[in-house]
Amino acid sequence: MNIILLGPPGAGKGTQARMLVDERNMIQLSTGDMLREAKDSGTEMGKIVADVMARGDLVTDEIVIGLIREKLDGDKAGGFIFDGFPRTLAQADALGELLQSAGETLDAVIEMEVDDAALVARITARSTCGDCGEVYNDQTKPWPADGKCANCGGTNQKRRADDNEDSLKQRLMEYYKKTSPLIGYYYAKGQLTKVNGLGEISEVKAAIDEALAG
Ligand code: AMP
Repeated sequence: MNIILLGPPGAGKGTQARMLVDERNMIQLSTGDMLREAKDSGTEMGKIVADVMARGDLVTDEIVIGLIREKLDGDKAGGFIFDGFPRTLAQADALGELLQSAGETLDAVIEMEVDDAALVARITARSTCGDCGEVYNDQTKPWPADGKCANCGGTNQKRRADDNEDSLKQRLMEYYKKTSPLIGYYYAKGQLTKVNGLGEISEVKAAIDEALAG
């Protein structure tokens, strides 16, 4: 099963994707994670995208489509979760073609609906474990007081450079201008399921499980 998690920054796509990976042996393909890795390891591509990402703009379709193309050739395990991709209509078309030529189908597009006020609150409170990727929230799921990640025991708490108010405004603007048209695109294809992303993590997960079962 191959699915897309669609939603604005802070909707909870990464958190839900991690649970699908654990429970269904799926492979999370987060273009944001791939780009941050390229930036941190200082590759040529990483240098090109660093400023764009810091501003909250989208990197070019060509770069992200290339990243996804490489991954689709590898292990498919329990299927792919596209997290943060596609973000433009051109990326959506390219994904359709890539899946088709790999003999794969797109089985569901889950739109995670969250209001803007909740997004800002979530993103400015967000941190992750730099070792295992576990996601924390200063209010609802604080980094443990003993300084160690509850999942892996690592001590490397990280905050994203673009999780600040200026970048976030731009990321939201990019979402509404370039990514939200995908809601209509996948609705018209009969592939869209909306899920309320505002509830507890377990409630959102249950709604996603139900959507995938149907
Ligand atoms: P994310 O981790 O998904 O919030 O992505 C972080 C940043 O990486 C975004 O603000 C963009 O600058 C860039 N990015 C990630 N995925 C894409 C994509 N599919 N298309 C264009 N830019 C992307």
